[in-house]
Amino acid sequence: METLGKLAVLAEGAKYDVSCSSSGSAGRRGSLGSTSLGGICHSWSDDGRCISLLKVLFSNDCVFDCAYCVNRRSADIPRATFTPRELADLTIRMYRRNYIEGLFLSSAVVGSPDDTMVQLVRTAKILREEHRFGGYIHAKAIPGASPSLLGTLGLLADRMSVNIELPSEQSLLALAPQKNRDSILRPMAFIGGTIEERKKWKRTGRPTPAFVPAGQSTQLMVGASPENDFTILRLSEGLYRSFGLRRVYYSAYIPVADNPLLPAPAAKPPLLREHRLYQADWLLRFYGFRAEEVLSPQQPNLDEALDPKTGWALARPDFFPVDVNRASYEEILRVPGIGVRSAKRILTARRGHLLDGDDLAKLGIVMKRARFFISCKNPAFPASPPGGDLRRLLSAPPPGKDNLRQLRMEF
Ligand code: SF4
Repeated sequence: METLGKLAVLAEGAKYDVSCSSSGSAGRRGSLGSTSLGGICHSWSDDGRCISLLKVLFSNDCVFDCAYCVNRRSADIPRATFTPRELADLTIRMYRRNYIEGLFLSSAVVGSPDDTMVQLVRTAKILREEHRFGGYIHAKAIPGASPSLLGTLGLLADRMSVNIELPSEQSLLALAPQKNRDSILRPMAFIGGTIEERKKWKRTGRPTPAFVPAGQSTQLMVGASPENDFTILRLSEGLYRSFGLRRVYYSAYIPVADNPLLPAPAAKPPLLREHRLYQADWLLRFYGFRAEEVLSPQQPNLDEALDPKTGWALARPDFFPVDVNRASYEEILRVPGIGVRSAKRILTARRGHLLDGDDLAKLGIVMKRARFFISCKNPAFPASPPGGDLRRLLSAPPPGKDNLRQLRMEF
């Protein structure tokens, strides 16, 4: 098969992986501006810059048979495998034409996890060492890969990810029998541990080659298996804490197989649930919440009608109103309608004078939401709207069909 034929097959095989924050950009298929056919996706660097990546699999010829995956061994699909040189040269050609700024390098399991990793390392080495490629590389680590190969790939990649996919050992056993928790968590622990070790070396002034400088991420599938949001959120919390992950990406399961253990092929992907999980994850990472504060065994799933921060606030009337002129940063952050940036602005602005409602609106606070949860100089805000149904007033309308494809943060 020619390289472009392989590109079409292997870009298709990669599109279900969201661990590089791909937004895709199909446009009108085949029309000018459509990049999805060529495997180009968009990702965001740590400084918020949007970067285009060539997102393809090295191979989709998988020896594993994960029931939820379009590339599983038993699926009847066209198969293709690049050579390392083919993929490296293709990347460079696209880079030189300014189509892309980097590569999302992933693969199905060809032969064994280590055989596959050897091919990924070769591809990255050709790029970095022969072509002197300085662009962004996000490399997937194959579950079960050995530490020496992870260590080598980590010196060549900017970011790495090991996809955890399913939130429990039981689900892995049922749906991905060739994988297990250990084969996924060990590479994650190795990458996280090595990143930490290199940071320490750097602090002592020891010469330190860059190892995965943009950190590691993972992907968790939502809705393929029966775990609730509480289980998923606690798992994410543990991954952030134990392995220093930069991001957990949630991926609503898109039915690809007729299997009694999975949602029916006609089932819609749970996009709203995915969206709420992203919002709850945001609370863990930036707002100082713990998973146990957002959900509990008694209420194990996120309320789809409310963003999780508003849901928490409505369940904690004893915590409010928060006096924005006296409360701590952490307390102010808990107010619906006040984000990280506006909480910091409040702390700065209140040094000069006591803040009133007009000041808050000028600082960018979403007053139509925040007004029910704060007190300030004046006016006295009501604790509930006329008619008293605060929950109804604050229930976000379900995002439109198109918007669900994008991450929206409404705090
Ligand atoms: S290992 Fe499983 S999830 Fe990965 S490509 Fe193969 S079948 Fe798909």
